[in-house]
Amino acid sequence: MSQVFHRHCHTPLRTAVRGEGVYLFDQHNNAYLDACGGAAVSCLGHNHPGVRQAINTQVEQLAYAHSGFFTSEACEQLAEQLAAKAPGDLNHVYLVSGGSEAVESALKLARQYFVEIDQPQRVHFISRRQSYHGNTLGALGVGGNLWRRAPFDPILTSAEHIAACYAYRDKHAGETDYQYGQRVANELEQKLLELGPENVAAFIAEPVVGATAGAVPAVEGYFTRIREICDQYGLLLILDEVMCGIGRTGTLFAQEQEQIQADIVTVAKGLGAGYQPIGAMIASSRLYNAVANGSGFFQHGHTYMGHATASAAALAVLQAFEQDQLLAQVRRQGQGLAERLNQRFASHPRIGDIRGRGLFMGLELVQDRDSKLPFAPHTALAARIKQTAMDNGLMCYPMGGTIDGVQGHHVLLAPPYIISDNQLDELVDKLSLSL
Ligand code: PMP
Repeated sequence: MSQVFHRHCHTPLRTAVRGEGVYLFDQHNNAYLDACGGAAVSCLGHNHPGVRQAINTQVEQLAYAHSGFFTSEACEQLAEQLAAKAPGDLNHVYLVSGGSEAVESALKLARQYFVEIDQPQRVHFISRRQSYHGNTLGALGVGGNLWRRAPFDPILTSAEHIAACYAYRDKHAGETDYQYGQRVANELEQKLLELGPENVAAFIAEPVVGATAGAVPAVEGYFTRIREICDQYGLLLILDEVMCGIGRTGTLFAQEQEQIQADIVTVAKGLGAGYQPIGAMIASSRLYNAVANGSGFFQHGHTYMGHATASAAALAVLQAFEQDQLLAQVRRQGQGLAERLNQRFASHPRIGDIRGRGLFMGLELVQDRDSKLPFAPHTALAARIKQTAMDNGLMCYPMGGTIDGVQGHHVLLAPPYIISDNQLDELVDKLSLSL
């Protein structure tokens, strides 16, 4: 029996031994087309020479220096680049080791900000139902995914959950997309009035919902209204771009397509592209200045923050984006993927919705296309699709989610940005075979 404590204790895993481009290979040299980048991580594909070289060079010079004593050139350069590329005055970059750490840092900065500006009564966080923001206790605490929370509920920081903004699920008959977006955004205001707006620190949401809903962008006007409500009542807006950020939707930050700016944004996954564990919390100048001019000390930290080697890898990732014009490539290949998915699955009796942005697409599995009722209650469906796809040489990301106790299933696709037209054909063929 394996000594490694795997997440699924009883499901035997294949052993990955090497990767090349959009493929991973197991111990028997079987190839798997990586159609999900793991969990939207491997945006450059596998074995990228530029990133490999950058890591080697950095390790030879300086692998790590503790951030309590030193900064490093790689970490400073990365922060500079992210600040320059992030929207508006999102100018202060806090480098950590992954998505959950980035979200924890965001929650704690939001809280400390209100302590610094003498509004210590702001203690509540609001998020959306079925949301996921990470697995550490603080990040899990703000998430609205009932299944993930269940065993830990009594020990989580409590958060309030409001309506999700999903493509069609909660839409009323006769409602336009815009009206629907305004209605669900206004639930934030109702919740604020219930809690007393002066007691709320922040609202956190993903611009495009990833793992728990399957690449669902908000409808038009939703985030503009959310931003308005946050400003009106003085709470912060945290946008979690751990999955949808770093080019995945065709712009470096997904919020660019919503024409709004967060007070804090979190990124991870694609930033290290799988080559190094890294994440970032990027804060606006207003928040940073409150801490810098107040206590002068952000009361938070992790051993591997500002990691030199991880920063060097992320710099090489950003360099590859520029050199190979990968954001344009995401938009182009994303359109190619959407067209192929629509051609192949638009009349599939069990696929009720095909949605997403860029190379971040989701297929919703339904009982039938008219009612669009979730494909309930087959809880093992996601595991079966994943297994069948792996047997067919395809890595995709099927998930069964719970919305207010109702099961729904989708398949998430997030292939590397370097995927070619032929490989898109192969992806859709293998997915079709597996479904
Ligand atoms: N936020 C979002 C939106 C995520 O998708 C994830 C990971 N799936 C996280 C946070 C947590 O990131 P990590 O697993 O790197 O801790």
